[in-house]
Amino acid sequence: MGEFDLIARYFTRPARHAVTGVGDDCALWQPQSGMQLAVSSDMLVEGRHFLSTVSAQRLGHKALAVNLSDLAACGANPLAFTLALSLPRVDEAWLQGFSHGLFLLADTHGCELIGGDTTQGPLNICITVFGEVPPGDALLRGAAQAGDDIYVSGTVGDARLALEVIRGSLSLDAELFETARLRMEQPEPRVALGLALRGIANACIDVSDGLIGDLGHIMKASGVGAVLTTGWVADSAAISPALQSLPLSRRLDMALAGGDDYELLFTAAPDQAHAVQEAANDCDVPVTCIGRISAGQGLQVMDIHGVPISRRFVSFDHFSS
Ligand code: ADP
Ligand code: MG
Repeated sequence: MGEFDLIARYFTRPARHAVTGVGDDCALWQPQSGMQLAVSSDMLVEGRHFLSTVSAQRLGHKALAVNLSDLAACGANPLAFTLALSLPRVDEAWLQGFSHGLFLLADTHGCELIGGDTTQGPLNICITVFGEVPPGDALLRGAAQAGDDIYVSGTVGDARLALEVIRGSLSLDAELFETARLRMEQPEPRVALGLALRGIANACIDVSDGLIGDLGHIMKASGVGAVLTTGWVADSAAISPALQSLPLSRRLDMALAGGDDYELLFTAAPDQAHAVQEAANDCDVPVTCIGRISAGQGLQVMDIHGVPISRRFVSFDHFSS
């Protein structure tokens, strides 16, 4: 099978909202007048972002999910995406699974594949998503205010837990491992929550590198500090049964610095607390208050008794030595 047959068979569907989709030199999209375009790219490299053992269907899902997660973090509504794919060979069973997982998630969010590029090379997947948001409504990293509560959606630490089990540094009951592995291989982007938080949250980011590292981006962009509590790591909706099975200190590492969570980390004024919980209920995603934004700079992490923890939590950085 050649390049163009491959594109036609696995990545071409009739255009829905696009003026022109896959097949011409450019896709054409008619923007809704008055809306701002939200654009984001994420690349997945084999061995770096995923293990070669992941199923093609889950990989198709995850490649789009991590991109939709960026739209969610901005409170943008997904519209369309492009897919640049580098493949070592034409493996039809793999392409079938990959495109199936990709389109299942795309259809869930009404997000249309409108173009891309296909080439031979090491397995590498780069997606660019396009979304829209009314001017002034986007949730940005720089909008946190001193006094804001800090929240995280869903559960954190599970993807890292699964990775550590696969690496052999931890062992876990088989059923719990499967739940953690699903979180690593098939994360659910919090698109509905991002939309529901418009006008309620101040700053927002999605947790990809690790909660503390990503909170650091909000602090830097907003020029604020933060105090993180950890009582929620002992017992809250943010800690899954799989993570609950670990001793507290290991749990802390996974939850605070694990990465690959694709949850929303956001801040909101205390008088929005009720609205935050209502938005979470409407979206059927728990949100947990995990700390407070402070004036000045720096992060303080408190233990469950409210005593500052001095050790460092290191989030993921591709180029850190
Ligand atoms: P060009 O050489 O003009 O850039 P290509 O030959 O690379 O175009 O691609 C042909 C058409 O197929 C284009 O519309 C392009 O957007 C689309 N396309 C290529 N690869 C993919 C892919 N992996 N997924 C979706 N569309 C693709
Ligand atoms: Mg061309």
